[in-house]
Amino acid sequence: MKRLLTTLILLAFALPVTAQDTRKLHPVKGDVYLFQNNFHMSLIVKTPEGTVRVDPINAEAGAWLNDNLPSIGAGPVSHLIYSHSHADHASGGSAHPGAITIAHENAPEAIDGTEITVQIGQFASLAHGGKTIEMTFLGSGHGEDMIAVVVRPENVGFIVDVAAPKRMFFRNMGGANLDDWKAQIATAQGLEFEVFAPGHGIVGTKADLDDVMTYMNELEAAVLAGLQAGKTSEDLQATLKLDAYKDWIQYDAWFPMNVEGMAAHLKATGKVN
Ligand SMILES: [Zn+2]
Repeated sequence: MKRLLTTLILLAFALPVTAQDTRKLHPVKGDVYLFQNNFHMSLIVKTPEGTVRVDPINAEAGAWLNDNLPSIGAGPVSHLIYSHSHADHASGGSAHPGAITIAHENAPEAIDGTEITVQIGQFASLAHGGKTIEMTFLGSGHGEDMIAVVVRPENVGFIVDVAAPKRMFFRNMGGANLDDWKAQIATAQGLEFEVFAPGHGIVGTKADLDDVMTYMNELEAAVLAGLQAGKTSEDLQATLKLDAYKDWIQYDAWFPMNVEGMAAHLKATGKVN
């Protein structure tokens, strides 16, 4: 009985622990880090003149980061860049009062209550503390205000939601126009960088971005062929496989949903009846 009680007590303590937030600073290259807040990543660039951060995620994440930046020898956040304005990446900018905030001109003038101080167009470059931070608008597709960020001299590219190394697209891609989404990937492919740091998942290389484009094209071809052969989206969600990607993150859960999103796109754009 005592043993059972001990087990129950341990479980009672263990459950809240597993439910707790995973927050960590991961070194990427040189002065560039990823700050992980559960399943979301924020880019951190350490400079002698203050820290550049891409994506606030939420206020609690920002408070944790403020407490933990000294652990990597980094000062307070001086610049906060928004990759895009979707709430799961863009909330909680208030954690960094006084920071210069930068977003694409299509983004709201204030994001989750944080005023944007600098709106950029097609491209902008920030020289700060010996680093060059290049911001390139990726066009519409996943969102209407998506910016890719490249940090030099490290040559790290930070791309959020549009693509991630060896990872399925998120669920059914939210009903986005996937031709536009492909154009976003293509624009990112045109950027010069070596290390691919994503908003979700694992760090990779530029070659992983090419693989994501190949996956998008193979997904499109397979779904189109299936629909043209008279199968329904539901048939394809249940039966279609692309084994080359079976080891990618979330393949089992999200590949059928990627199929659903692609089928809906092909119908919506009139490529199939
Ligand atoms: Zn998004």
